[in-house]
Amino acid sequence: MFDRASLLKQVEDSTGWDVIIIGGGATGLGVALDSASRGYKTLLLEQSDFAKGTSSRSTKLIHGGVRYLAQGNLDLVKEALYERGLLLKNASHLVNNQSFIIPTYNWWDTFVYTIGLKIYDVMAGKLSFGKSVRISKKAAASRLSTIKTEHLKGGVVYHDGQFDDARLAVNMAQTAIEQGATVLNHFGVTQLQKDSNGIVNGVSAVDHETHQAYVFNAIVVINATGVFTDEILQMDNVDAKNTVRPSQGIHLVLDRSFMPGRDAIMIPKTADGRVLFLVPWHNRVVVGTTDTLLDSHSLEPKPLESEIDFILETANSYLNKRVSRTDVLSIFAGLRPLAASKDASEKTKEISRSHKVIVSKSELITITGGKWTTYRRMAQDTINKAIALKKLPYKKCPTKHLSIHGADGSADDTDHLYIYGTDLKAIEELITKDPRLGDKLHPRLEFVKAEVVWAVKNEMARTVEDVLARRVRILFLDAKAAKEVAPEVAELMATYLNKDDAWKQSQITKFTQLANQYIL
Ligand SMILES: Cc1cc2nc3c(=O)[nH]c(=O)nc-3n(C[C@H](O)[C@H](O)[C@H](O)COP(=O)(O)OP(=O)(O)OC[C@H]3O[C@@H](n4cnc5c(N)ncnc54)[C@H](O)[C@@H]3O)c2cc1C
Repeated sequence: MFDRASLLKQVEDSTGWDVIIIGGGATGLGVALDSASRGYKTLLLEQSDFAKGTSSRSTKLIHGGVRYLAQGNLDLVKEALYERGLLLKNASHLVNNQSFIIPTYNWWDTFVYTIGLKIYDVMAGKLSFGKSVRISKKAAASRLSTIKTEHLKGGVVYHDGQFDDARLAVNMAQTAIEQGATVLNHFGVTQLQKDSNGIVNGVSAVDHETHQAYVFNAIVVINATGVFTDEILQMDNVDAKNTVRPSQGIHLVLDRSFMPGRDAIMIPKTADGRVLFLVPWHNRVVVGTTDTLLDSHSLEPKPLESEIDFILETANSYLNKRVSRTDVLSIFAGLRPLAASKDASEKTKEISRSHKVIVSKSELITITGGKWTTYRRMAQDTINKAIALKKLPYKKCPTKHLSIHGADGSADDTDHLYIYGTDLKAIEELITKDPRLGDKLHPRLEFVKAEVVWAVKNEMARTVEDVLARRVRILFLDAKAAKEVAPEVAELMATYLNKDDAWKQSQITKFTQLANQYIL
């Protein structure tokens, strides 16, 4: 079902589509899932791999957004809290209930955060993740054993969701296919097709593996390309003004010894007024993020020295275990597609984070902004817009109660294989059949060879990067180890994909160059 050859056969046999979606990040995959589950004939094309863009580079939170609450953006918070509750049910294998502690250093902050988080609890209603509580200095210091206790007055504990972003994207692609969609990675859109009235009615695209060009017809074309939105809008109209401005956020990944307990830390106001999170993730700690407006975008954005210094300095002002550059296991940057500001003085943290559905004169539909947490609602609004434009017949949206592939009712993170949910049994069977697949990929890492085989056979991984960055996440967890296991992964993949030595060598070279960017 998830095999590229059979997916390609579907596009070759098809005479046309109801909906074509450009972009396979959280937004595009959400739209594909919505569209296919309503019964529309759906094709999604992703130029690189699913979640290669921003969607694999998030802070890994499924959250209402405490900072949006502080900004008074109550509608956004309420919507996100509702979606958070649905995701805990629908992707139960990937979304954990995570406790966060806000350390407080004066009584006023303790009071303000306690009240604010009570409001957050109330807004979550029935879908609450647990009540927030004020804790003493002693309790805060004991739960956060590496926090500096000088001037510490206490803390406020609240709950939010934590997840694996790229894994959710892959499972969403699988769910969309199960619902009848055709979903292809490494397949880029190069042009829009129009009818004699200038209405968009399809796309030209290229299979990046074979370099074969295709033209696909569709009733609706949806642009869900994140920071690449304007490139597609300019395919539609060369004079289109930029609607999106990238804002970069970076994260550092550290060993768990920097924050060994089960709680995450949320710093609501860093020296420059931003929010910083330290979140346990796959037995490491993710620290971020920054918010730097850029003038250009790319699929592999590079962290700036000033951003690295900012995160190290801020972490060191809260932790008593000193973090230095050599402690960083991996560093990654992502780009937020913020609405291009009309007013140059507007700060990025003040620009709206809500999503927008834009309809061009050509009836191209663009969905932009939003966040991972709200992808389902964004998708629903996008397809509803196509229905409102009378491009599609009305069909009810069923995604509120649609389980994501793998959902099994629990995210027991004591075994790292928990992320596979209902697929876990099949991975264990691979190991039973060939016990060598139970061997670890790297002595420092928990991941086993069977996961590589599974990713190739069932998760549409096509390159060493697809496996190490977005199926088993090693690149994001320990970039040096990722570099060291690349030859072994290329060897395993070549067996199952029937590739030769030249392919293996070129994969190892490409991946090594990439991994160097994740090493500080
Ligand atoms: C630093 C940072 C931290 C964040 N943390 C969180 C968080 O903790 N929780 C949360 O809810 N949200 C978070 N967000 C927001 C969230 O990550 C984004 O809103 C979301 O990932 C955007 O998804 P997207 O699909 O719109 O964009 P992307 O993931 O960038 O996907 C766009 C895709 O379009 C593809 N594409 C572009 N052009 C073409 C073409 N011509 N043909 C085919 N494909 C094309 C690209 O290859 C790309 O894969 C964070 C964002 C940032 C930057």
